[in-house]
Amino acid sequence: MNLEQQLNEITQKTYGKKIADCTNAELYNCVLQLSKDLMAATPAITGDKKVYYISMEFLIGKLLSNNLINLGVYEKLDEVLKSNGKNLADIEEAEPEPSLGNGGLGRLAACFLDSIATLGLPGDGIGLNYHFGLFKQVFKDHLQNAEKNDWIEKNSWLNKTDITFEVAFGDKKVKSVLYDIDVIGYENGVNKLHLFDVASVDESLVKKGIDFDKTEVEKNLTLFLYPDDSDEAGNLLRIYQEYFMVSNGAQLIIRELKEKRYDLHKMNEHAAIQINDTHPTMVIPELIRILTEEEGFKMDEAIDVVSKTCAYTNHTILAEALEKWPLSYIEEVVPQLVPIIKELSDRVAEKYEEEDVQIIDEDDRVHMAHIDIHYGYSVNGVAAIHTDILKESELNHFYKIYPEKFNNKTNGITFRRWLLSCNKELAAFLTETIGDGFKKDANQLEKLLEKIDDQAVLDRLYEIKKDNKTALAKYIKEKEGIELDTNSIFDIQVKRLHEYKRQQMNALYIIHKYLEIKGGKKPSTPMTFIFGAKAAPAYVIAQDIIHLLLVLSEIVNNDPDVSPYMKVVMVENYNVSYAEKLIPACDISEQISLASKEASGTGNMKFMLNGAVTLGTSDGANVEIHELVGDDNIYIFGKDSDTVIEHYKKADYVSKDYYKKSPVIKAAVDFIVSKEALAVGHKENLKRLYDELLKKDWFMTLLDLEEYIEVKDRALKDYEDTQKWKKMMLVNIAKAGFFSSDRTIAEYNRDIWKLN
Ligand SMILES: *Cc1c(COP(=O)(O)O)cnc(C)c1O
Repeated sequence: MNLEQQLNEITQKTYGKKIADCTNAELYNCVLQLSKDLMAATPAITGDKKVYYISMEFLIGKLLSNNLINLGVYEKLDEVLKSNGKNLADIEEAEPEPSLGNGGLGRLAACFLDSIATLGLPGDGIGLNYHFGLFKQVFKDHLQNAEKNDWIEKNSWLNKTDITFEVAFGDKKVKSVLYDIDVIGYENGVNKLHLFDVASVDESLVKKGIDFDKTEVEKNLTLFLYPDDSDEAGNLLRIYQEYFMVSNGAQLIIRELKEKRYDLHKMNEHAAIQINDTHPTMVIPELIRILTEEEGFKMDEAIDVVSKTCAYTNHTILAEALEKWPLSYIEEVVPQLVPIIKELSDRVAEKYEEEDVQIIDEDDRVHMAHIDIHYGYSVNGVAAIHTDILKESELNHFYKIYPEKFNNKTNGITFRRWLLSCNKELAAFLTETIGDGFKKDANQLEKLLEKIDDQAVLDRLYEIKKDNKTALAKYIKEKEGIELDTNSIFDIQVKRLHEYKRQQMNALYIIHKYLEIKGGKKPSTPMTFIFGAKAAPAYVIAQDIIHLLLVLSEIVNNDPDVSPYMKVVMVENYNVSYAEKLIPACDISEQISLASKEASGTGNMKFMLNGAVTLGTSDGANVEIHELVGDDNIYIFGKDSDTVIEHYKKADYVSKDYYKKSPVIKAAVDFIVSKEALAVGHKENLKRLYDELLKKDWFMTLLDLEEYIEVKDRALKDYEDTQKWKKMMLVNIAKAGFFSSDRTIAEYNRDIWKLN
């Protein structure tokens, strides 16, 4: 049966209609079914050893386009639909986006699953099936409101399994159910994403917005993903969620090992467990507990084999994001783990006196990362500079004890989603120009460098960018009601809202430009500044920064003196689907975190791959992008990480000094509480942000502002030299191969997992 017949059979059976007579929503359901059938017919990836990637977040995004590409049927199906008067891109719009992650960490987990399957490695994800995921962002009155994201429909990618476990919390037992999502590699076999749910979950607990009754975990545990990107709310529910995930994960892993009749004493020869940040750390004591209590292991044996199985990835040096749970919380949620954690802690205390490496500290708080480092066999950072900072400062005490455990794995992104799927025009042109080898071997993108003087290639790259800008402008007009000039330069900063990422610095630049234009200094090329960001609902200053951006958008876009020269857009509900539309249309990629604070970033890689030029600090993977493209193809500014770390050590950064010294900084900051701003925005929010910048500014916005203005002005000027810009675009695309997550995963496998 060919693809058309197969699809027709499904539409007939489901709706009693031919393909041509179905609506897009109906066709979405049918193409979903077709994809699931095709994946079910694809062999599972097997092997003697499997990696389990355990993570509280998998920001998978919509799956239809990606799965069809990986199945190798996208183009064929596109033709079938076209011949029936339908359009696959329109059908994709009907898919709801699951939001099972906050940002980069969750998106990384999703890219990794794609690459693990693409490389044909046996590897499954383990996570939670949040019914409403991360909140949906809605703007009202220039403020962020949070609503639930209802993504699970009757037909979805979830396949309910008959696997159920029991998880014990204190004196109550909660039953779990397992849902699987198939993960298909690019022209390869199938792995699984295992998402555990509570059997007795009750969606009706959610009444308004994202509020719900927090008392009964058996009803609420999997309703929402914690919306804290890096702050910890210290809420018990978070510990309930973490333990629920790891207990189910541990039971599943042991069940699979037993099914294959492997000796649990040799668990490490058949399983590697990659712990994605500290959230799944309790899998270590939980496995030890199961092995000693239920499998007859001696404590020494259990600790030994679990330590040889578990590996830890560190994602941050932000102190507030490193989990330290009061022992009393763990006692309340999972008393059965307390004796194990104490045993692990005692063994450390016996060997090492230093307070910095203890598991349970003097205040009876449990340092989750310390469990991972002592009782795991690998500790990796996610970009070269980040791993260096871990070794030299943040985790230096541990590095001295276990130098052999530390290694770097610079993050990557899957090119299937972030090029082949989101930028089909560019992917097709690259295929035409350098062949399709880059689809499986990303380094082949370098062949593009041979075309650096080929005018037709340069022109076409620019034209594709223009087409993507036109498509984005159309979408933004529909969604946000703002008209964009596609001849303007598109400068984009999209990522979670956090002070360390410094959206507020970009906002100050915009104010500065606004004031210049009002003063008669008109730019020769119009500018479009686009933002997208969700802020954790409890993160007050982040909410205030969103408020400022929305206020600026209103002021700038409605000022007839200014709006011909610049526009400001804050898109609503930035998510993976929006990213897929924004990134291909970007000219300047804003990666302006305070040096040392962004562990890697992956947005930076997506933009580069799609021909944007980075404007960034020497932070995270920006450093490696800089090394690859060279000084001439990137805009780097700001104090370096050593300087910043020194400022923190000496506590000698005083933002007010910078404000007083520079009239430009002063004017921009003062505008936040000006008559114009207060006429549109709320005094409470704006004044609080103003005070924060002048009295605290923990992430040193004003430290780099002057240099940011200078270098950004230079970038905008360079954009006018179209020929130069086209070449920069080409070099960025050509050098992006290193950031394929296929490379990252090959390194994880080579150095950490060692699967066959
Ligand atoms: C890639 C991605 C991120 C991570 O962006 P950074 O700039 O690296 O913080 C966050 N959210 C979404 C939706 C993404 O696709």
